[in-house]
Amino acid sequence: MIDFSLTPRQEGIIEKYRDFSDRWIVPNRLKYDRLAEFPWEIVKAAYDDGIMNGPMPKIYGGNEYSLLDGVLASEELGAGCVGIGICIDASTLALTPLYVAADEEQKKKYFGLINEAKGVAAYCLTEPNAGSDVQGISSTAILKGDKYIINGHKRFITNAEVSTFLTVFAVTDPEKGSRSLTAFIVPPDAPGVEIKPRLQKMGQKASVQNEIIFTDVEIPVGNRIGGEGHGFVIAMKTFDRTRTGVAALSLGNARAAFEKARDWTKNRRQFGKPIAANQAIGFMLADMATKIESARMLTWYAAWAYDHDKKKLNKLSAMSKLYASDIGMEVTTDAVQAMGGDGYTWEFEVEKMMRDAKLCQIYEGTNQVQRIVISKSILK
Ligand SMILES: Cc1cc2nc3c(=O)[nH]c(=O)nc-3n(C[C@H](O)[C@H](O)[C@H](O)COP(=O)(O)OP(=O)(O)OC[C@H]3O[C@@H](n4cnc5c(N)ncnc54)[C@H](O)[C@@H]3O)c2cc1C
Repeated sequence: MIDFSLTPRQEGIIEKYRDFSDRWIVPNRLKYDRLAEFPWEIVKAAYDDGIMNGPMPKIYGGNEYSLLDGVLASEELGAGCVGIGICIDASTLALTPLYVAADEEQKKKYFGLINEAKGVAAYCLTEPNAGSDVQGISSTAILKGDKYIINGHKRFITNAEVSTFLTVFAVTDPEKGSRSLTAFIVPPDAPGVEIKPRLQKMGQKASVQNEIIFTDVEIPVGNRIGGEGHGFVIAMKTFDRTRTGVAALSLGNARAAFEKARDWTKNRRQFGKPIAANQAIGFMLADMATKIESARMLTWYAAWAYDHDKKKLNKLSAMSKLYASDIGMEVTTDAVQAMGGDGYTWEFEVEKMMRDAKLCQIYEGTNQVQRIVISKSILK
């Protein structure tokens, strides 16, 4: 039996996130794109409306979303603005190592901390010499008595400068390298943590990224998440859960661009008829709609498969992220093309959607890396 219908609860999730997006994100997306500022007012409102930390347990302020629930939510955030949506979803990314590997005491403490602050967390994995190759991480956390001393350099860290805490990956034994990779919680105001000025970038400008330098940063042993050497598995389990979220953000962004192009081409007249009445444009819209629908089905399937059998997710989550972000780039580019000069201007927003789409092909593992994951899985 196969059934694509959503439960009333899942319909409710879509409605709640769409309503939030319409009230808070859509009216403010151009402002934050121009300002390149973190959208604090929207994040605070997201806390007030129960939008934040969706997958986290209810006792810790979340909504206990399944992966499919999370995908439905993220599509609506992406349809509002991927840049604003990722401020929320990157925080979920940073909380996920706690979700998958922390003990109850740590969960209570850190989920409590983030809720009380109405704040966001930052996931600190990437380094100047360890981007796609996570095994190249060289930041160290050396145990001295009951403290770890952290030294290292992280790069491209979303939410760093606005974070309540940092989830940091470092090796505890440089000789063992990534086999000793371990996850830690680090306060951003701890002595020795230097958060560099924000990076300037092409799109998703509402989200902020920084480099971070750690120099002899002392943290208690109790800030370690899971055991020493569990970091690589924790990082991969985290991505298995979050890549469908990036797929859903891409999908939402593509949907928004498609709707803009569809409405514009139905109204704009040249040669005595609507632009959309030309088969060249009608077929372009048909292809856009088909790509969006197929990306949605793959993303739902990946999330559903995880919810039913966690072992299946690795390949499918990579496929959903790869496919949805690739079609996100294609659809937003076609939206600009279908709208001609208007599409290229700031006023009609599709140029922003096109800029925003690009990053979804890069972060949380580039699409080349997704292909490595998929090919390893199908060739093993
Ligand atoms: C705006 C932004 C936000 C980010 N947020 C975060 C964050 O919050 N936390 C975090 O830890 N990281 C974050 N990242 C980092 C992001 O995950 C990395 O940029 C990404 O994993 C790629 O790493 P890299 O940039 O070092 O590229 P590289 O690894 O240097 O890759 C460069 C190119 O080579 C290709 N390539 C590399 N290896 C192979 C291979 N074996 N086969 C084929 N092609 C290959 C890549 O696909 C890419 O096209 C962010 C990045 C950006 C730009």
